[in-house]
Amino acid sequence: MGESDTRNLRNICILAHVDHGKTTLADHLIAATGGGLLHPKLAGKLRFMDYLDEEQRRAITMKSSSIALHYKHYSINLIDSPGHMDFCSEVSTAARLSDGALVLVDAVEGVHIQTHAVLRQSWIEKLTPCLVLNKIDRLICELSLSPMEAYNRLLRIVHEVNGIMSAYKSEKYLSDVDSILAGPSEKLGDENLEFIEDDEEDTFQPQKGNVAFVCALDGWGFTISEFAEFYATKLGASAAALQKAFWGPRYFNPKTKMIVGKKGIGTGSKARPMFVQFVLEPLWQVYQAALEPAVMSHWLPLSDAILSMVVKCVPDPVSAQSFRISRLLPKREILDNNVDKNVLMEANLVRKSVAACDSSSEAPCVAFVSKMFAVPIKMLPQRDSNGEILDNYSDKGGNGESDECFLAFARIFSGVLYSGQRVFVLSALYDPLKGESVQKHIQEAELQSLYLMMGQGLKPVASAKTGNVVAIRGLGQHILKSATLSSTRNCWPFSSMVYQVSPTLKVAIEPTDPADMGALMKGLRLLNRADPFVEVTVSSRGENVLAAAGEVHLERCIKDLTERFAKVSLEVSPPLVSYKETIEGEGEGVVRVQVIKLPLTVTKLLDECADLLDYKRKNTDCSVLIRGSAHVSERLGFVDDVLEVTQASSLCQEAESLASSIVSGFQLATAAGPLCDEPMWGLAFVVEGQADEPESLQQSEQYGIFSGQVMTAVKDACRAAVLQKKPRLVEAMYFCELNTPTEYLGPMYAVLARRRARVLKEEMQEGSSLFTVHAYLPVSESFGFPDELRRWTSGAASALLVLSHWEALPEDPFFVPKTEEEIEEFGDGSSVLHNTARKLIDAVRRR
Ligand code: GDP
Repeated sequence: MGESDTRNLRNICILAHVDHGKTTLADHLIAATGGGLLHPKLAGKLRFMDYLDEEQRRAITMKSSSIALHYKHYSINLIDSPGHMDFCSEVSTAARLSDGALVLVDAVEGVHIQTHAVLRQSWIEKLTPCLVLNKIDRLICELSLSPMEAYNRLLRIVHEVNGIMSAYKSEKYLSDVDSILAGPSEKLGDENLEFIEDDEEDTFQPQKGNVAFVCALDGWGFTISEFAEFYATKLGASAAALQKAFWGPRYFNPKTKMIVGKKGIGTGSKARPMFVQFVLEPLWQVYQAALEPAVMSHWLPLSDAILSMVVKCVPDPVSAQSFRISRLLPKREILDNNVDKNVLMEANLVRKSVAACDSSSEAPCVAFVSKMFAVPIKMLPQRDSNGEILDNYSDKGGNGESDECFLAFARIFSGVLYSGQRVFVLSALYDPLKGESVQKHIQEAELQSLYLMMGQGLKPVASAKTGNVVAIRGLGQHILKSATLSSTRNCWPFSSMVYQVSPTLKVAIEPTDPADMGALMKGLRLLNRADPFVEVTVSSRGENVLAAAGEVHLERCIKDLTERFAKVSLEVSPPLVSYKETIEGEGEGVVRVQVIKLPLTVTKLLDECADLLDYKRKNTDCSVLIRGSAHVSERLGFVDDVLEVTQASSLCQEAESLASSIVSGFQLATAAGPLCDEPMWGLAFVVEGQADEPESLQQSEQYGIFSGQVMTAVKDACRAAVLQKKPRLVEAMYFCELNTPTEYLGPMYAVLARRRARVLKEEMQEGSSLFTVHAYLPVSESFGFPDELRRWTSGAASALLVLSHWEALPEDPFFVPKTEEEIEEFGDGSSVLHNTARKLIDAVRRR
């Protein structure tokens, strides 16, 4: 393959709110171009959860990885992800490997919560998005809108989506984080400027061709370009001029044959915007006259509209990598002068080669594995493309699993990968400059086979080059979920992916028959690897704890465990909810505990600051650094200051062993707070160690052997400090979007009230008798919520939950009534019963 091949590649994903038509659109594109993986009749009828026969299983596996679509001389990798919010980890993995995203919005429903989430994801990963307004047919036949009314509705949606994007562009803390991740800003070549958004400019502009109007169900759709070309000769104008005029307040004056603004048309004239007159009106006429959808799909074939938009608007890998580099491989600031200059130079060269998407065979080879996926071995082709019989050993020394095999799903970002190649597998914590001390974060592995994901299934290939998405066999033993592959050890790992939710729903699992424990353990290991998002841990009580993103995700995990990975019957405990612990922060008196003459103070971080730490932790796995160095800041509370002190951790260099015992004690304390052993949150522990430095330094030498004691003392001091500062329980909250017909508003509020929900707003949906209600709902109260809601509203109300934030319960868990009024009010001992914090803590302790 030559350079032109990379330029003819596009990597895209489809992102959407559930039910807005992602599956339908993906199936249509695959059926139209993908080489017969799906029969067109099956398109839209396959569901992700239906594991039916082998054929469907194959299609589903392909769809949840990627599929190559062929359009003209382009090859478009559609990197797909299932639609439910619980599976949004898959959105992150898809976004990481893509350069562009089709953001799908239902033209009737408009923007919903997941629309926000996916727009944000595409922004974070520096994807180039295109907007697809789906279900245009519903505007005609369900809502019976006139073309003018439909235009206004579409205009509003485009406006709203642009508003969301511009909020991200200017979002303060995100851009802060981004700039840290990115390092000093980089100069880009002129050839890339076309993809860089002008801050003033809307992201989505139909007149620029990055907005499509479609009906995925019946397979038709268009962008303005199609109509502009069609009318160019008819109206005697250039297609380019028409394209600009076909959106917004542009009118056609039939007498002068001129395109004019609003002022140019007389008042009282029947002039409509050109989009209405030349696009929507003819569309309405044909649609209403057509007896069959085939008429529409012949006239305006959906796959042409979408794929030509992709080819035009989404950058090829070479252009895309030149500006995604700041997100993928942020530039490192090297403060230490003692690093190995040769290593640094090579690592920088590798980074350059990723930025350039260098496809030459001398280029260092770099790839990113975004997830591991399990396929039945019999699904793998037994012969390669030359007809040679492939090695059919399962992953050596592995899990002993004979019928499932793990493939790494990866994109090559530089150089050429070939089967049989030996590469380094770098985990997110690897740092090439740290030499020996990070050896555990790097391994060597052999790539047994490489596959391209074609319409017909996995196609074995001898090599694949930069820009391509491949499946790799042979890494099952080396990678748990994601990793960077590199041909040199002098390479930084890619930045971690950002997940929009965290796995909060935990259950304890045991086999029904204790003799099956071995099978369960093996099954959990396989599941942990196959699902990028699941977390499997063993609790301090020895239970096997599985953490999932929500009830739907949990259901799928249990099904996978019982049917595929463990194949034994399981007992699943009721949900265990995670909490955190914090302090109220008010109240006099700084707590100082003397630990080897190190006074320790605890203060509460500002919310923004805590959020930033949460965000950074997910991004860069640097909790230790921040927590550790947050000790030394006296100016906590301002985001900038915390960022400054992250670099000040060298302060303790001389007293390194003492410092590391302190940090360990701090970590032990913050991992399990004094209320109910849940992690502490949003706190800064300040060790004012400077004042008595000479002494503590001296002591540090003696203390070498007492490091365990220092650790325990610091841990106890941290816990004691928290107990003296009004400890509070923090619970996770869902943001909840509910839709209900007016008559069920009462029962719905009753359900919400029983579950301690806080209603934020309610709103009548325009043109219907549906109410949309937004509320916060504690995660601990959410189990069975959708079911209860359905029961009380006869199935008429629906709810979608997204993890929103952590919130401290205002109540004092240790409250005992003292004053007369309090005793009167709670004299019967009900204070304990009314104290939610107390009840929750007791429940955790009982567990
Ligand atoms: P996903 O959850 O985003 O994958 O959405 P689906 O593709 O499953 O679509 C959700 C529902 O919308 C299904 O019942 C589809 O048949 C329907 N649907 C999808 N596209 C269209 C469309 O263009 N017009 C109409 N009227 N319905 C559609």
